[in-house]
Parts: sequence; C-alpha cells; structure tokens
Amino acid sequence: MLCVGLVGVTGHLVEVEADLAAGLPAVVISGLPDTALHEARDRVRAAVVNSGQRWPNRRITLNLLPATLPKFGSAFDLAIAAALLGGSGELPLLPLEGVVILGELGLDGTVRPVRGVLPMVAAAARAGVARVIVPVENAAEAAVIPGVRVRAVDTLHRLVAFVRDGTPLIEPPADVPVPPVGGPDLAEVAGQQLGRRALEVAAAGGHHVALLGPPGAGKTMLAERLPSLLPELDDDAALEVTALHSVAGLLPPGGRLLRRPPFQAPHHTATVPSLVGGGSGLARPGAVSLAHRGVLFLDEAPEFSKGALEALRQPLEHGQIQLSRSGGGTVYPARTQLVLAANPCPCAKPAGDAHCECSPLTRRRYLGKLSGPLLDRIDVQVRLMPVRAAELMATDGNVEPSATVAARVAAARQAAAARWADLGRRLNAEVAGPLLRRPPWRLPAKVTVELRGRLDSGSLSARGFDRVIRMAWTIADLDGRDRPDQDDVREALQLRTGEAA
Ligand SMILES: [Zn+2]
Repeated sequence: MLCVGLVGVTGHLVEVEADLAAGLPAVVISGLPDTALHEARDRVRAAVVNSGQRWPNRRITLNLLPATLPKFGSAFDLAIAAALLGGSGELPLLPLEGVVILGELGLDGTVRPVRGVLPMVAAAARAGVARVIVPVENAAEAAVIPGVRVRAVDTLHRLVAFVRDGTPLIEPPADVPVPPVGGPDLAEVAGQQLGRRALEVAAAGGHHVALLGPPGAGKTMLAERLPSLLPELDDDAALEVTALHSVAGLLPPGGRLLRRPPFQAPHHTATVPSLVGGGSGLARPGAVSLAHRGVLFLDEAPEFSKGALEALRQPLEHGQIQLSRSGGGTVYPARTQLVLAANPCPCAKPAGDAHCECSPLTRRRYLGKLSGPLLDRIDVQVRLMPVRAAELMATDGNVEPSATVAARVAAARQAAAARWADLGRRLNAEVAGPLLRRPPWRLPAKVTVELRGRLDSGSLSARGFDRVIRMAWTIADLDGRDRPDQDDVREALQLRTGEAA
C-alpha cells in the first residue's frame, strides 16, 4: 500500500509492506517508527476487529519504506490496515493499486482526520500518483491539489466495502464560493500620520517595524492592518502557507489555498514551542511559521520571556526554523515580517504622566530587553503619541483606505524587485547594507550629508546608517522615483529615530 510521510512540510511517498507467516501470533513494525507508529499496531488491531473483519492469528511483519525516512504521526493507520487485510487474503488489493491512502483509525474503525493532508497530497501528485483516499474531514483540503482524483472515507468498513463490492467512496464537497471577508482596514485608523506612513514604508520594503508608545496610541490597530497593505500571495507562496496551516491542523473549513498574507499575534505568555514549533509526533509549526509570508505581531514585546525572544532570533535571521527532535530534525519555513509594539516603560503610563514613577534607568532596561536579538534587525522604529481628541473627531474625508495604500505598495515592490532581480533579491529589506554603500548604488555625497554628520558625531551607528539608506530606497520607490534624494533620506531618518523632521 502507498501513503505519505511528512518531513517538515515536504511529503515523501511511503510504501507499506505486510508479511504474514506461520508462527507465534505477533505484530512487528519496522522502518524507523516513532511512538505513534507503535500505538498504530493497537489502533489497527481494534479497528479491524470492530469493523467485523477477521484478525489474522499469524506472525505479522509490517515494513514501512524507505526505512531511512523518519516517520511521524498517525496518517499511516489506514494503509497499514489495508496492507494487513490484503496479506491475510481478506481483501483483494487490486482496486487500491497505485492509490495513496491516508488516515488515522479510531478503535471503533472510524477514520479520523490527520494534519498535513495538503502537503501529503501535493507530494503524491509530484510522484505521479493519480488517486488518493483521505479522511472525509480532509477531503476539501486534499481537493485543492490539481491533477489528483480525491475520494474520502469515514470508516474502515467503507474502504472494505469499496474494495470488495465497489461501493462508492465519498466525493469531496463541491467548491462553494465564499464571500470575501473584509479584514481590518486602514480607513478605520484616525490620525496617526506617522504610524500610517511607517506601516506603508514597512509594507513596501518588507522592513520589520517597532511601534513604541503609550497605551491608546493605536499600536495594535496599526499592526493588525499591515497584512491589508501587502500583495496577495503568489501560487508558490500560497501553497507553502496553506501547507503550514494544514500541518498545524488550522486550515479553515472549505478547502482552498490561503491567498492573503497571514497574521499571527501570540500573547506575551506564549511558550517557546508555541512560538517556534514543537511537540511530540508530527511537530506543530509555531506562530513564527504560521506567520510565514505574513506578519508576526508581538504586542507588549518586552513582556515576552527572554527565552522566547531569543528563540525568534534564528528564524528571523534564516527565514526558517530548525526543530531538533529524536529521529531527525524538522525544518519549517518562517520568513515573516515582524511588528513589535512596546510601551516606553513597565508601568505603561503615557509619557509625562505624573503617575509614572519609572526612573530613566528602569525605562532603558525595559526596552533594553529587546535590543540584542530583535531590535537590531528592525529598520522602522517610530514613537507614537496618543491620538488627540481633535484627530479622532476630524472628518475631513482624508483617511485613505487600505486598498489605496496597497496599490502604492504593490508598485513600489515591483520597482524594487526589478532593481534587485540580478542579485536574487525582491525587497529592499533583503539587500545587504555594504552593497548600498558601493557603486553603482552609493548615493551622492550631498544626499547623505546629514546622515554622515550623525555617523561622525556618534548619534547614529553604522548599522543604523545602512537601515536609513535602505528605507530611503523604499520611500523613493513609493514615490515612483528611481533614486532616493535628500528628502527621502530625511524622512527615513525620522522613521528610524522617531524624531520629528
Ligand atoms: Zn512608567
């Protein structure tokens, strides 16, 4: 029988062999099984018996090939049961030849949904498999993959009846069009010119963002609206993102590719495994992978544990996370855009508030927690003030909706992608600082004069210098010009230091 094993989000075809020999009744499974596979032996036995099938009292050897492939999870149950019943002569296996069979078995013989069906079926399709049988709850998800005929089962009994008598299997649900749901829109954010601009620049250049400011400054409102400024995911990205959510068991019902950049906002009490992934059996992707090709928002970032912030360093640097586990490491993609929000001090009172008694040292220490692992990678750092009543009441109709900003962002991204195509980069945030300081990309001396002054006086670090230049390119892209000028650099500096121009 054929099924699929997952390593990370990549599926590999697995062959299940069964041998039934004379001897003391026993079941032996070989082929690098993990704990769940050993439990499979007991599940399969109960399911077979409770489905009214005869359990062969022979010495049963099950082998899962290739043996070198680490195998996690419970998706092999159904294929094991079929191989076993075939081996004992209970079931003619011809109708299942070349068919990939996925599903976990309950003790009563029901077929249970499994995580990761989408990347499993994609792997089957790649391997030239034309037909798959999946748990009925996973049928819509499996049907997303083109070129594969999907049929579903709810019980082992249904599979047996199909093989013996040709009783039809369950067809996947017909494609039901879902009305597009409007996410949060930038039009709902009153005032906050600086915050809105920071978001637009971040979206256009792919820059990480830090929003610093007291409660009531609208940090969360802004962060939640960053995905609405990002372009739709292309086919490859959509497949990657959907596969990750499939492995996490978090795909919305209906079965379609996720086309919008995802948004993840883990709470500051989140554990390291929930942030970066982990768990027994088939590892669950963490928030940083569920935010792949989208946005990871850390609200009240200094409140996260030191270990949690430290654990994010690797994925932010490499765009993927390596989970070490017994039986082989798992790698999940984790190319995400980070948005940090932080209060200026631990008591979270507005600046200048008489009730704030935090010393300058306390304030420095509070944000200092972020400095090493995270703040160093963030281009855009703005300080937001609470929105004044006057701004909230202003109804000058001047508040741009997300769609208008997203159109500028898309054009800017296209310009950047064309410019960096030869370097294999697409976003300004991906371009290394030294490259921007060398010809042909070095900016004329008169454009960077203020910046170099700050560098010399020590009020800007060398790394900060590179970040300002990078943002200046994004600002020029947004404005439709092919080179940053002095004003672009000035605005970029403002988005870096939070100082008014
Ligand atoms: Zn305070």
